[in-house]
Amino acid sequence: MSGLTALVGAGGRQALELLLIGGILLGIRWMGAPRTAVRGNRLSACCLAGFILLALAGEGLLVSGWAWGALALGGGLGLALGRRVRMIQMPELVALLNGLGGAASAVVAWMELAVPGAAAAAGPRAAAGLGLVIGAATLGGSLVAGAKLARWLRPTPMRLAGWPAIQGMAWLLIVAGLAGTGVLAGPRAALLAALVGVLALGTGAGTVWRVGGADMPVCISLLNALSGVAAAFAGFALGQFALVAVGGIVGASGLMLTQIMCRAMNRHLGDILAGRTTASAVSAPRSAPDAQPEREPAAVPVPLREETGGLPAAAAALRAASRIVLVPGYGMAVAQAQEAVKTLADRLEQAGKELCFAIHPVAGRMPGHMHVLLAEVQIPYEKFVEIEEANRRLPTADAVVVVGANDVINPAANTAEGTPIYGMPILDAAAAGTVIICNLNAAPGYAGVPNPLYGRAGTILLFGDARQTVSDLAAALA
Ligand code: NDP
Repeated sequence: MSGLTALVGAGGRQALELLLIGGILLGIRWMGAPRTAVRGNRLSACCLAGFILLALAGEGLLVSGWAWGALALGGGLGLALGRRVRMIQMPELVALLNGLGGAASAVVAWMELAVPGAAAAAGPRAAAGLGLVIGAATLGGSLVAGAKLARWLRPTPMRLAGWPAIQGMAWLLIVAGLAGTGVLAGPRAALLAALVGVLALGTGAGTVWRVGGADMPVCISLLNALSGVAAAFAGFALGQFALVAVGGIVGASGLMLTQIMCRAMNRHLGDILAGRTTASAVSAPRSAPDAQPEREPAAVPVPLREETGGLPAAAAALRAASRIVLVPGYGMAVAQAQEAVKTLADRLEQAGKELCFAIHPVAGRMPGHMHVLLAEVQIPYEKFVEIEEANRRLPTADAVVVVGANDVINPAANTAEGTPIYGMPILDAAAAGTVIICNLNAAPGYAGVPNPLYGRAGTILLFGDARQTVSDLAAALA
């Protein structure tokens, strides 16, 4: 019997765990509004720290120098990473953290399979096997996703010749390997489990390698969910109720988000993972070598109109407008233009304009990216409208101001069959009276598809860094 259980009894321990889970759920609820988000984050973090202490106490490790040393090392690294990372690198960091979550579960599950005596019953062994495979696949997939987001790998979908056959074979070997760990013992079981982990890691990496273009958000959200599912299985294997509960929360919320993302992208998850969306939409030569990008971003976008009016025309259009919609996108994050956007929004509201922020579910580079940036400058959530509502308002809007958004407003998604954004519902900016675009230049967005909106009559182009152009626009309205 562990020291903690001896002290408070099994019931007392479970009551403490339930209290901490309640705290995490309350924290998540508080994160739903900018005013309480910081408090919610702190509460959830404190509850997780409470779980760590409970786990240490449960294993009699409260006085172990090793345990505290490992905690200090991991905590210090996390703190340093969190401090150093710039806001623009947050999506890559989130991808990495998903991967590390998967890795931690895979290592725990591997030990349960490898160390004789642990998880001896069939149920926990099966859970450990699933935790190992899902955790390792999450690590592999997350590393590739992070590299694509950081543009160390091409973000476009990549073709891997013969991948379905390789993947099928890998899954067969994984299942056989897991069965083998049930009959082997000692170092052989450890080695076989490690091989299963490596195969799962490669399978996860290969699957995400093929996903790209506009489908990445679904993938990131799924990897987040899988990191939770892996933790829950590891918790089953260890008999740790808390790990099962917290993993379950992450898994369930991640899967719900994945479904929301799929709906927003008008995609089926199975099609994305099987490469049946963008990867198969364009026929490639049979002799295509391995790992060829499916398409190169077009170097020359749509023709621009010679005269777009510039800043004076944009300011005049906003002065004349009554209803205005602001559309933020990834470029706002790059330019760190959220403060300038807030100034512009304040000016417009002071002038009596009706204003809202249209947020596309995949705008930016991670789920909720735009919400985080706009909340940072105290723009209330009540001002945000989702895609359906935005598309109801846009036809009656006098003007729309696009700040660093491209794919999410690209009308080519409705017409350009075979491109990575074809079929994705977009914010119909073209339906508004005047379209003011504050983007860097006329190059295509993440998915590499030229945007015909740049050449449309009634579009005013304010090219340049969005922090500057939006500030100029706000100043012109002062
Ligand atoms: P896009 O990447 O399509 O467009 C961003 C636009 O901002 C580009 O025109 C870009 O120009 C411009 N830009 C870059 N830097 C600046 C700057 N300093 N000032 C002004 N403009 C700038 O972003 P969207 O938000 O419209 O769409 C998101 C895309 O990312 C979708 O395809 C989505 O599928 C994908 N994605 C989303 C994820 C998520 O979870 N939300 C995760 C992974 C991918 P330039 O092209 O010249 O840099």
